[in-house]
Amino acid sequence: MPDLFIDGDWRSALDGRTREIRCPADGTLVAAVDEADGKDTVEAIAAARRAFDSGPWPRTPAPERGDLLARVGGLLDRDKEQLARAESLDTGKRLVESAYDIEDVANCFRYFGRLAGSGAGRVVDTGRPEVDSRVVYEPVGVCGLITPWNYPLLQTAWKVAPALAAGNTFVLKPSELTPHTAIHLMRLLQEAGLPSGAGNLVLGAGPQAGAPLAEHPDVDLLSFTGGLGTGRLLMAAAAGTVKKVALELGGKNPNIVFADADFEAAVDMALTAVFLHSGQVCSAGARLLVESSLHERFVDEVVRRAGRIRLGGPFDERARTGPLISAAHRAKVEAYVARGVEEGAVLRCGGARPADPALDEGFYYLPTVLDKCSVGMSVVQEESFGPVLTVERFTGEDEAVRLANSTVYGLAGAVWTRDEGRAARVAAALRLGTVWINDYHPYVPQAEWGGFKQSGVGRELGPAGLAEYQEAKHIWRNTAPAPQGWFS
Ligand code: NAD
Repeated sequence: MPDLFIDGDWRSALDGRTREIRCPADGTLVAAVDEADGKDTVEAIAAARRAFDSGPWPRTPAPERGDLLARVGGLLDRDKEQLARAESLDTGKRLVESAYDIEDVANCFRYFGRLAGSGAGRVVDTGRPEVDSRVVYEPVGVCGLITPWNYPLLQTAWKVAPALAAGNTFVLKPSELTPHTAIHLMRLLQEAGLPSGAGNLVLGAGPQAGAPLAEHPDVDLLSFTGGLGTGRLLMAAAAGTVKKVALELGGKNPNIVFADADFEAAVDMALTAVFLHSGQVCSAGARLLVESSLHERFVDEVVRRAGRIRLGGPFDERARTGPLISAAHRAKVEAYVARGVEEGAVLRCGGARPADPALDEGFYYLPTVLDKCSVGMSVVQEESFGPVLTVERFTGEDEAVRLANSTVYGLAGAVWTRDEGRAARVAAALRLGTVWINDYHPYVPQAEWGGFKQSGVGRELGPAGLAEYQEAKHIWRNTAPAPQGWFS
């Protein structure tokens, strides 16, 4: 069955190309899928344009759009085991983590389903009784949605659900490495009754299948999640047609531990912060900042526990984390670690591929701790996006904040202390879109997600996440028109 979904039809790529998807845990073939190029994407954009300009979806009452999203939430629940398995085969992620992700995906559709029916606009008090003045919210138009491979369906849901809730039409281009759950989602949207052309799917490499979504004049909004370099490129490409642009880029997220922190909880979560999904998490706590007086004891314990983490494939129930997504990505992580050591970091554990021959066919890399790092090192400044923890030490609040804020990123981070006043001061001073106090990683769909500084533009989730996909229109109605007499 063909894998591209354009104008309500499942199609093969126009030039007949396909791409093999292999599981990064062991290299086994998952499937070959159709590989679009720009021509397919331009057709998908035309379908989304027609569906927006004259199709039923943007004219469907908001509560009915909300009902459809709720139905999709139910269908996701129904298919959750199949979806979790597909996500794990594409990403190599542990099955239990994929299962959590799919639950979050279903909840995201339900959340935006509820929001769809809630915002009817607002009346503006002009102080003039003959004037009826209202602000209404309308869809932006055709949305180009480009997503990464680390949380494939979740990142897709964060875009598709609010885009549809607001009445937009879309063309989705997921990562070429992890297409299967996006294909499945399109089938569910079709089953739930989304009109033809309102949702379209193209698969393939970014520069070919994705580029028209940034450049084409018929796309009104580009929403992208991925790396900083790609984000810069796409923002520039979108400038030609002055699209609305939303970017969710990377992070180099500080996890700050003061000496008075709850030791057990902070150690435990320092490991989760960085080694979950082998560090392939945009909000990974990859920079550990520890107060000097605690440094030695804390880092010794982190290193001891990091050395015990069991690696394995998605269906190995004893594994705690899995492989990296590709050989190229592992090579990039290896280069960051080598450079860090060259620059003076002390390798405390990891820094190599696992010795276990059972893992030879996968792209595994051992949980790695680099101690005695300094803020200027490339491994501290740049996102390795792997299981690599850098450790810096600090003395006092001011230095902690100064170091934490010293990268171009501003996505997320945490502060660990029992002193509530200090926690509040540090949280206020951090230039980050999300700050956890005595915790790491939780998020809820009701609260906005996004980055300060070069971590992004705009917000996902929460009411502001919906607003990204809306235009506010002010309608001024004078019920008693009369000459003003200014020029007569
Ligand atoms: P990437 O930038 O390589 O690719 C992301 C997507 O962009 C893919 O679909 C890719 O095909 C597409 N793409 C690449 N070049 C393109 C081009 N020239 N034109 C159009 N599309 C193009 O990122 P990745 O390696 O897939 O994902 C990892 C990155 O994503 C990390 O930097 C991570 O921090 C970031 N991320 C951020 C968030 C967040 O919420 N801020 C969430 C998840 C991932």
